Amino acid sequence: MLKAFAAAGVPTFDDQNGVMMEGDGGAAISNACVRDGQRQSVFRAYVYPYMDRPNLTVLTQAPVTRLAFEGKETAGVEFQREGKLHRIRATREVVLSLGAIHTPKLLMQSCIGDEAELRRAGIPLIEHLPGVGRNFQDHFMSPCVWEAREPTERRNDLAEATAMWKSDAALNTPDLQSFMVEAPYASPQAAKVAPPRTAGR
Ligand SMILES: Cc1cc2nc3c(=O)[nH]c(=O)nc-3n(C[C@H](O)[C@H](O)[C@H](O)COP(=O)(O)OP(=O)(O)OC[C@H]3O[C@@H](n4cnc5c(N)ncnc54)[C@H](O)[C@@H]3O)c2cc1C
Repeated sequence: MLKAFAAAGVPTFDDQNGVMMEGDGGAAISNACVRDGQRQSVFRAYVYPYMDRPNLTVLTQAPVTRLAFEGKETAGVEFQREGKLHRIRATREVVLSLGAIHTPKLLMQSCIGDEAELRRAGIPLIEHLPGVGRNFQDHFMSPCVWEAREPTERRNDLAEATAMWKSDAALNTPDLQSFMVEAPYASPQAAKVAPPRTAGR
């Protein structure tokens, strides 16, 4: 696939992240976290190997409810655990990475966001940042499944290759992405119809 893209004049990259997706687009082998044939979660791959470090504590079942402030400075976080509200003070900094939906939600719960929006929910304002929670763009995937003549053995990480490009050259970054994979990606609706035996394993 990469050779075909290169032949068509599309630049190829070592990594789909970074320059390729933040620039004009191109094609690359897809990133996937795989060990012994199994996909790994980010936690399993990057955090679990260091769980015995004395300076790392992982708390599960501990949803963060809001940032704690001293004046306008973030001083720590508040979270709930076993029915109790806890507060942890940060000695250096707080890094929020709760995903695309929960990160802005928590900022808004912490009085940071669009003033009118917060007022509507009865949340007092610490910082008027109108961009918080805006411009979330959902995207859909259209899988096309091709049946192989013969069953294929697993040859790679099943993430294969991906290409990104722009539907309009005036866009800053690509808005279209294609994948080629050796296993069928199916919606719950499509999965009800058993894919053909030779569709991939
Ligand atoms: C089906 C699927 C397949 C994907 N495949 C790939 C792939 O092959 N390659 C690739 O590069 N990317 C892939 N992605 C995208 C990739 O998973 C995301 O870009 C990445 O996980 C985003 O990381 P994140 O840390 O920002 O957020 P997330 O991974 O969403 O992590 C946020 C974490 O915060 C926790 N959280 C939320 N709210 C709270 C709270 N109040 N208190 C405490 N914790 C909270 C959540 O439980 C979650 O664990 C895939 C995504 C999906 C959905």
